[in-house]
Amino acid sequence: MEMLKLSDSIGVLKGVGPKKITAFNKLGINTIADLLTYYPFRYDDIREKKISEIADQEKVTLKGKISTLPVLTRFGRYKSRLNFKLLVDHDIVNVTFFNQPYLMKNMEIGQELAVYGKYDLARQSLTGIKILTQQATDDFVGVYRASKELNAAKIKKVIDQAYQTYQGVITDLIPETLRQKYQLLPRAVMIRDLHFPNSPAQNDLARRTAIFEEFFLFQAGLQSLKQKERTQTGRLIAYDNQVLKQFIASLPFELTGAQKRVVNEICYDLHHPIHMNRLLQGDVGSGKTIVAAIAMYAAKTAGLQSALMVPTEILAQQHAEKLVEIFADFDVNVALLTSTTAKKAKQRRTLLENLANGEIDIVVGTQALIQDPVIFHDLGLVVIDEQHRFGVQQRQILRNKGDRPDLLAMTATPIPRTLAITAYGEMDVSVINELPKGRKPIQTSLYSKKQFSQALNFMQAELKKGTQAYVISPLIAESEMLDLQNAQDVYENLKKHFAGQYQVGILHGQMPAEEKDAVMQAFKDHQLDILVSTTVIEVGVDVPNATVMLILDADRFGLAQLHQLRGRVGRGQQSSYCILVADPKSEYGKARMQTMVMTNDGFVIAQKDLELRGPGDVLGRKQSGIPDFRIGDPVKDLAILQVAQQEAQQLVKEADFYENPAYQALVKYLQENIITTQNFD
Ligand code: ADP
Ligand code: MG
Repeated sequence: MEMLKLSDSIGVLKGVGPKKITAFNKLGINTIADLLTYYPFRYDDIREKKISEIADQEKVTLKGKISTLPVLTRFGRYKSRLNFKLLVDHDIVNVTFFNQPYLMKNMEIGQELAVYGKYDLARQSLTGIKILTQQATDDFVGVYRASKELNAAKIKKVIDQAYQTYQGVITDLIPETLRQKYQLLPRAVMIRDLHFPNSPAQNDLARRTAIFEEFFLFQAGLQSLKQKERTQTGRLIAYDNQVLKQFIASLPFELTGAQKRVVNEICYDLHHPIHMNRLLQGDVGSGKTIVAAIAMYAAKTAGLQSALMVPTEILAQQHAEKLVEIFADFDVNVALLTSTTAKKAKQRRTLLENLANGEIDIVVGTQALIQDPVIFHDLGLVVIDEQHRFGVQQRQILRNKGDRPDLLAMTATPIPRTLAITAYGEMDVSVINELPKGRKPIQTSLYSKKQFSQALNFMQAELKKGTQAYVISPLIAESEMLDLQNAQDVYENLKKHFAGQYQVGILHGQMPAEEKDAVMQAFKDHQLDILVSTTVIEVGVDVPNATVMLILDADRFGLAQLHQLRGRVGRGQQSSYCILVADPKSEYGKARMQTMVMTNDGFVIAQKDLELRGPGDVLGRKQSGIPDFRIGDPVKDLAILQVAQQEAQQLVKEADFYENPAYQALVKYLQENIITTQNFD
């Protein structure tokens, strides 16, 4: 007999020809393994129930006798309604079927019938879904996501066939010890009870096992990938520790404890032959930039170049200026490369030459950095700011411009700790969990739209102290044009309101880069007191003299975005304020505004956001980096997620993991199903 393998194509099954293969492929099913893990997305419980036990709108099966002659009412050509009464024990239930007139043919008074449908408690009526034949034995059945070419029944039949044929070669992936510890099912039983459960209880256990397995395999894959990255020979960057210390001592402030810790973590990686792949996570204003500067300076002392890539021109320019300032007394050559530089042909040519000959030590830039002609002399360190704004591919292109350079990715996007390990599993994570000393917490308050003039008065009182303010115009997700119109309206109104008192400027995404820079510069130089803006200033902008962040229609923004916006103030010595103007209508909207008022902690906000919205929506699935799981839900099944992750991490760390026969099936699975970072985009 030939060897059966789960990696066999589904084409080996009876009744699955080329057409069906294509149809299955469309559902993401290529192999027997895919088929067996194509689990039902829900289950219909069609066991009979007593009338008194049924909840309103519950789907149930009722068994009884037809007690009135069915009446068919037609309306329109294709629409109809079939009514009859069913005697269930001693209760009469009104049953209605829509658009299935043919059911009437076989009905007669006194006939026994089992009807599956949706129950309406108040009217004691049932909207029929189907009539069950007497032979129906399955009373708890899985329902599959079907397609035009493949109905659920066919899918189920093929899965049944596959299971019958292949059940003997389904091996356990979760090691026996863990299976015992968490009382999980053997894999073959799990698969059987997910597709063909006899009872909800049996199905529950199978689901629990499958969720654990899914999280466990994912994490084991990530961990082994990470281990490989770390042990593969990267470059040892032999920086000059003495000189680096002098540089750190020269800074106008002392590093926070958290900054010192992450600097150590990064320096350790730099100076070992590890291919660093590290995420630096820290709330807005926690001081990530200086940490990056220290790392880049370290590379410079080892004779290597660094590149800092950021998502916007404004940010690139700001970082470049800051670095020039920081390195004023040190021999570091900083350059800026953006699409604006790219337009100045001569300047650009010189810049590219100096990058190629090693004259430039640090280049700060936008995506212009990854465009073709940019060649480095010797790129040793890549830093990506606001990393979630870039795709894996873009990060990789920049990385490929050097000889295995180390990578430091920075993000202020507070992913809840509980999910960070899933989203960033393949990276090492350094966290700055402390703000620089002396920061005063930003006070946030909520004003209704009616109270807008009060909000303006408050802002004015602050401006009188010589500080500055941001005003964020409402976000209209569907249309950039409307966003712009809105910003312009707000701008005109404020200009009128503050005429002769304060200078108002406007910034929006559709302005040419030069104009944006000019406005930003004017705001930095305090030629403008108030900056009206769409969300283009969301990331990274640093103007310490700004103390008021006023956000219009705040309930239209996501919590993470509001938190980012708020992080633009509270950067100096004075107290800062965030004013949310909104009339949230739903409970959910109110809860979100309340969260902003209650806390400044990005992680708490992220956790709250997650609870309110679910993980896929927190930042958009792409940005959050949280992969799609088939059966597990990182929020609902959080407890299982944590345990599975913990166990996987520990297991992969075991010295003999790859050799131990007890893990052979798992190791083989991981080798055949390599998770790459590509999965995250
Ligand atoms: P983010 O983490 O949001 O990128 P930045 O790097 O822009 O934060 O830092 C915010 C501000 O805090 C900057 O003005 C920076 O100079 C300042 N800063 C950074 N570290 C410290 C520190 N240890 N003590 C005081 N101020 C600091
Ligand atoms: Mg920053």
